[in-house]
Amino acid sequence: MPTLGIDLGGTFARAAVVDGKGAILASAKVALQDRKPPGVVETIAQAAEEAVKKAGVKKVDGCGVGAAGQIHKDSGVISVAPNLGWRDVPLAAMLTKRMGFEVKVVNDLSAAAWGELHAGAGRGAQDILVVFVGSGVGSAIIADGRLVNGGGGVAGELGHIKVVPGGRLCGCSEHGCLEAYAGGHNLIAQTKELLASGSSRVLEQLTHDDPDTITPVTLETAAEAGDAKAKEIHTRAAQFLALAVANYVTVLNPSRLVVGGGVLMHCPGLKRQLLDGVQQWSSRVSREGLLIADAELGDDSGIIGAALLVK
Ligand SMILES: [Zn+2]
Repeated sequence: MPTLGIDLGGTFARAAVVDGKGAILASAKVALQDRKPPGVVETIAQAAEEAVKKAGVKKVDGCGVGAAGQIHKDSGVISVAPNLGWRDVPLAAMLTKRMGFEVKVVNDLSAAAWGELHAGAGRGAQDILVVFVGSGVGSAIIADGRLVNGGGGVAGELGHIKVVPGGRLCGCSEHGCLEAYAGGHNLIAQTKELLASGSSRVLEQLTHDDPDTITPVTLETAAEAGDAKAKEIHTRAAQFLALAVANYVTVLNPSRLVVGGGVLMHCPGLKRQLLDGVQQWSSRVSREGLLIADAELGDDSGIIGAALLVK
């Protein structure tokens, strides 16, 4: 029987009916009008009902939700979800009550890793490290074919390892996190700061002095055009990412490293520096036999993984 997968983002809920092999039968996306928990539960239920109707199936065998944030693994309580401004929301229990069947809630990166393991770039491997750089920086670990959750369910929070003691403020409210330097939101923030400082002619020309046009690609373009300050921000982000992932490879010795996320997809320079750094800085023995692959499922990895996780 097919299952439901839900991708809960900061601005929308997307639902898909997924078969046992990880193929999407139908999907539906509904924008979040009300970001308070009861409103979001309604939006998710609406997207789910729409997807089930489109798929033409009578019944689904459970539902998995991938959400950004720190999520308690057994209870499905979202401890912290910065993009929704939530703290301690029992989302799994609320959705189970609303939908009338069991709903499991997991971290979005865990869901994405599970999707890539079963239906994407991780097929055939047992020990996988998945690293995504999008608006944030996240990772998930699969060891011996199982997701590593950690004691409190928050293992793999790569974005929040510290790279600069007392450094830039991160969305998690701590200072000096990797994400504060290399996450998409923060690449944009640093580029805006550079534009506002008035010290980058290249950036002024690229953006026509409009900070709202800035994306991580703007930063990469300015860096590659030879702007010294833009290059500094870009290189620092790439080096921090590369060192973090290289050290991760040294510690975990995965057989496969799967990389994805919007920033890596659209900034080939950053991705190249990241992968070069991994080759250069992971220990020689840990990277023997390491296969590096691009995530294959794109935006669907989380939704497919969430659906397969309830099996
Ligand atoms: Zn942080």
